[in-house]
Amino acid sequence: MTSGKVVGLLDGEICLKMRCYKCCLDTRMILTPSDIERISQKTGLKREDFAWFDGKYWRLKNVYGHCIFLDPTTGRCKIYEIRPLGCQAYPVIEKNGICVADYMYCPYAHLLSKKELIKGCRILRKIFKELKEKPPEYPKF
Ligand code: SF4
Ligand code: SF4
Repeated sequence: MTSGKVVGLLDGEICLKMRCYKCCLDTRMILTPSDIERISQKTGLKREDFAWFDGKYWRLKNVYGHCIFLDPTTGRCKIYEIRPLGCQAYPVIEKNGICVADYMYCPYAHLLSKKELIKGCRILRKIFKELKEKPPEYPKF
């Protein structure tokens, strides 16, 4: 008999169980203004300490091939509670204007529930609105 507990990807349960931190390697995660403000305030770091500007977006910095906030010895995020919105939504991404699971990159994307896909999409829409871009549509089931 199972415990009935729903394990998920968006809350990191499956990632922890599978010891996966693939999406924290060579990250190109975009940061919103609220991400930058929250992370700066809580860590005391300046924006330039953890982000770089690609000419259009601020993105998370990497060190030695992984996100600056990844602890490579444990595979855990050092700022998990205040991580960027894009990290909170992943593996939900925008593709052709619709929210989809990133089956191409995340090895466990097939375990994403419909409820999580909707939740991730809600977060993605928030990101796009912050960046003043057209938010992706919710998926149709
Ligand atoms: S790649 Fe997928 S399973 Fe791995 S840490 Fe990222 S979201 Fe979790
Ligand atoms: S902020 Fe945390 S969750 Fe996001 S890429 Fe970096 S280590 Fe991974």
